[in-house]
Amino acid sequence: MPKVRVSPGSLDYLKQQLSGYVLLPGTPDYEAAVQIDNGRVQQQPTVIIQANGEKDVVTALRFAQKEGLKLTVLGGGHSATGYCLNTGGVVLDMSLMKGMVLDAKRRTLRVQMGALWSDVYAYMTNSGTGLIPVGGGCLTVGVPGFVQGGGFSFASRSYGISADNLLSLKIVTADGKPRHISEASKSKDELDLFWALRGGGGGNFGIVTEMELQVHKPNTPKMFMAQIRYPVELAQDVIGFYNNWVETLPNEMAVYGIWGPTAVPGNPSKTTTTFGFTVIFNGEFGIGLKLIEPLMKRNPSYANLNHMTLPEYEEMVGLTTSVKGRNAYIRAGVMPPLAWTSKAIKVLEEYMGNRPSQDSFMVWTHLGGKVAEVAPGATAFPHRKARFVPELKSIWDTPQQARANIEWGFNFYQALEPFFTGSYVNYIDPLLTDWQKKYYEGNYKRLLEVKRKWDPKNFFQFQQSIGSKFQPDTAMPLDLSPLNRTFVD
Ligand SMILES: Cc1cc2nc3c(=O)[nH]c(=O)nc-3n(C[C@H](O)[C@H](O)[C@H](O)COP(=O)(O)OP(=O)(O)OC[C@H]3O[C@@H](n4cnc5c(N)ncnc54)[C@H](O)[C@@H]3O)c2cc1C
Repeated sequence: MPKVRVSPGSLDYLKQQLSGYVLLPGTPDYEAAVQIDNGRVQQQPTVIIQANGEKDVVTALRFAQKEGLKLTVLGGGHSATGYCLNTGGVVLDMSLMKGMVLDAKRRTLRVQMGALWSDVYAYMTNSGTGLIPVGGGCLTVGVPGFVQGGGFSFASRSYGISADNLLSLKIVTADGKPRHISEASKSKDELDLFWALRGGGGGNFGIVTEMELQVHKPNTPKMFMAQIRYPVELAQDVIGFYNNWVETLPNEMAVYGIWGPTAVPGNPSKTTTTFGFTVIFNGEFGIGLKLIEPLMKRNPSYANLNHMTLPEYEEMVGLTTSVKGRNAYIRAGVMPPLAWTSKAIKVLEEYMGNRPSQDSFMVWTHLGGKVAEVAPGATAFPHRKARFVPELKSIWDTPQQARANIEWGFNFYQALEPFFTGSYVNYIDPLLTDWQKKYYEGNYKRLLEVKRKWDPKNFFQFQQSIGSKFQPDTAMPLDLSPLNRTFVD
């Protein structure tokens, strides 16, 4: 346990200033707060501050600056690398701040930054308006990290990435000032900051306290959803077909890929390995069913069809990709249209076939549609022309299993890398070389300028924050210390 470097007097003063709470090491609330989705992340901040409002956020920032401590912000805690936490500094936990206000007429939702997507889906369902957010496919992902990094949703081909639906936000910048910024901001610096916060990734420019999001009336109150699975022997035929077929689909349909363990139908306690697709169609059931006929004709081992609202569907499947505190090594890349070539599928077949842990899996997002209608430099998210974003999750339980599973994930990534054109900052990855270019392409230069303007002393920093020179050591055998964390400051 790290020694508390803050004097008891300072802590007492901090507590008096806050309407939220101070959590210290050794207490159950502290231990619960540092347990994030990826159990491999083990960090020990000196103090966790649970903010209860914007004033508390300013207090926390001033406290960290006065004490000379690092500060990171904890949203939903789904950073694959745990950049929301730190050791020795302050973690600002936003989880008390879950307020939401829907303006059904303007179709806007104001949401505080402690909200998870599960909170938003429940709120939207209870509103009875039928309106939907462009939210995460995982219930426990937090709104703040998701939107700032871009945010791919099952509805993105219809409505753009989540950041395209960000209308304004409230942020406390490194100078301790709360600001409300949007496209309507008068100053060029604020416009630049708003640009950077739509794809630049969380943790870089300030503490976001609230967002105003555009929400949408879907084309039909209920959508068509399907889960289709195939035996792995059919991969070349089916994924090869899918690669071309998705180019013919309307924007209203998204067809995500998955390869991994699935429950044996009729015997759910047993699993088998399959691959397949998650289909979401923002329209009539019958039209959706007709559109997927070519997939249904290719001998699936099973198909589940659903007709429900998007929030209801998220509530049903929204924990599929969470590792729920187990150890995970997560790698990902961005692929252009038609990238699932026979060679790329062969890599999938080989690595999914020899994975050391049967719980490991690969999923991929299907982009295009409205996402591609925005220019790569219009927001900080550059991958507008991407079609697929595969993410592999190597999952294990004991320290003895770590090396085999990490090396498998590393080699799998290396084999797929020739098919990638970049990486997605929300699948943040400490083993990525040249990460500045991979995450941001031509937008990095402007992000650096925004960072220098708004955070000249580099207060908001982590291993892969904007401006960091960090490059990982990828020599084999790999550094197995937690997440290759080598801080550069
Ligand atoms: C199981 C799972 C499913 C996922 N599904 C999807 C998906 O469907 N689509 C998709 O696009 N991505 C998905 N992701 C990736 C996800 O979008 C990112 O991990 C995202 O950054 C998580 O946000 P968070 O708030 O939960 O995480 P956190 O770890 O809390 O935050 C991520 C980063 O943002 C910073 N941050 C958090 N709150 C704030 C704030 N208020 N102000 C400033 N900075 C802040 C943190 O310090 C950290 O650097 C998934 C991830 C997981 C683990």
